[in-house]
This record gives sequence, C-alpha cells and structure tokens, in this order.
Amino acid sequence: MDFEMEEVDCPICEGSRGDPLHREGSFQMVRCPSCQFIFLNPRPTIDSLLRFYQEYLPEEEPSIESWKKMMEPVFRRAANLISQHRGNGRLLDVGTGFGFFPFEMKKRGWEAAGIEISQRAMDYARDVLGMTIFPGPLEKAALPDNDFDAVTGFYVVEHLSHPMAFLRECHRILRPGGLLVLRYSHTIPIKNFLRFFGIKNRLYDLPAHLSDFSPRMIQQCLERIGFEKCQHSIGGYTLPVDLGKRTSSILFGSFGEALYYLSGKKFLFPGVSKTVLAFKEERI
Ligand SMILES: [Zn+2]
Repeated sequence: MDFEMEEVDCPICEGSRGDPLHREGSFQMVRCPSCQFIFLNPRPTIDSLLRFYQEYLPEEEPSIESWKKMMEPVFRRAANLISQHRGNGRLLDVGTGFGFFPFEMKKRGWEAAGIEISQRAMDYARDVLGMTIFPGPLEKAALPDNDFDAVTGFYVVEHLSHPMAFLRECHRILRPGGLLVLRYSHTIPIKNFLRFFGIKNRLYDLPAHLSDFSPRMIQQCLERIGFEKCQHSIGGYTLPVDLGKRTSSILFGSFGEALYYLSGKKFLFPGVSKTVLAFKEERI
C-alpha cells in the first residue's frame, strides 16, 4: 500500500522534528531532543492511515479465531486487573477490533462497548458478538463527559497521530475516579540492544507504530492531563500464530513477569509490552 507521508513536529511537546534514531526500510524513527519522545518522522497522513486500517485486521474466520487466541491471555489479565478495582459499571474499549475484550467484560457483568475504525471488525463485533460499537476515531465519536467507569486501549496508543488528544479524550469521558487501562508495546530497549550488536531487524511494526512510549513517558503524559495514581505492570503475553514470534513472546513475557514480581512489582523489564493503569482524579 502507498502511504502519503508528512513531516511533523514532536506529537508530545511540538518542540522539534526529532533527531534520527533507527531506520527500518524507508521509515525512520526519531527522538525529540526536548522531551525524548520517540516517534516516526515523516509519518503517514491521517487519511492514509484510515485507509490502511480498513485492511489491517484479518477477514477470514480462522484468522479471526487465531487473533482471539493471540489476545486472550492479555485480555484475561486486564479483566482481572480491572476487577481488583471495580466490580462492574460502564466500560469503553477503544480500538476494540473484533470486540473480544468488551465481550469478555460483558460476561463479567459490565455494560461494555467499543470504538473501532475498521468497518469489517466493527461489523463482526456487532453482528457476531452482538456488541455496541461506536465508529472511531474516539475524538470524533462525541461521547458525553464523565460517562464511563473504565476506558481501555490495547496496543492503541502507539498507533495514534495525536496521542495527547486521545488521552485527553479518555480523561473527559471518564467519571471522576474512573480508571484507564492502556496496554502498549515498548520496543526501543530491544532495538538499541540489537543495534549495539549490529543485528538488523524489523521489530517496529512500521508504519503502523507511530511512536514508542516508555513507562516514564506515558506516566508524564497521563499526569499532565490530570490522571493520578499510575500503576505500571507486566503481565500476560500475546500468543501469535507464528511459532518464532510465539516462542519469543512467551519467553520474554514470562521472564519479564518473573522479574517484575521478584522485584516487588518494581522492575519493568525493558522491551516487553507494559500495562499502565491510572485514575481520573476524584472531584473535590
Ligand atoms: Zn518533544
């Protein structure tokens, strides 16, 4: 697919176009010298991304089933994490894909809905799973203020052109005290490690991934917007169909998780996906 590309300022601080960091094919990740944010520059325009995401998710039933199996361990962990804080309520899953996560939460007694930009994923979630799905992106869905008890986003934030606008919108639609759960990939440490040994790789999912958040960066963004009590964790791993990817996901996921618990939930193993939970401040 051909992408229309554009050069952009840092999506977080708007202070710079960034210094080159890694290349993959014709794509370049840069680091902002002001805030250290790592992002793709130039990057596809929003219109080309919207077209791209119409084809991003699989179409055939066996592939959808594999997708479900791949995400299941991560969804189960996240559902348990949310249950530790709240038994039920209204939940919105942003970038919900086929709707498997809100479907799981509905089974657990939540009034759960999703937001999705891919028409065929949306059709599946509505027609096969019977879920309520709003057409995305979130910023255009015009949902009411203070409406949800929980908002979730699995592997979404790194795909967004305007992550700050997305986080602000999550904050606006959450009730005071409501919780946000984001699962995101964190690829930079592995990229740096492999570059040190001169090993070529394509670990960034380019141009789908527009940025790479570190736990520190995501916490700074969340706090700037008004979220509080951020908790980071490592837990659960995806199960891709490809045997190599599956093995490394299980291996690094389990190792990262073991170190996380052994360190008293402090050590966030670099390079594996992270989950962050944050709360909208209670009204005074
Ligand atoms: Zn910046």
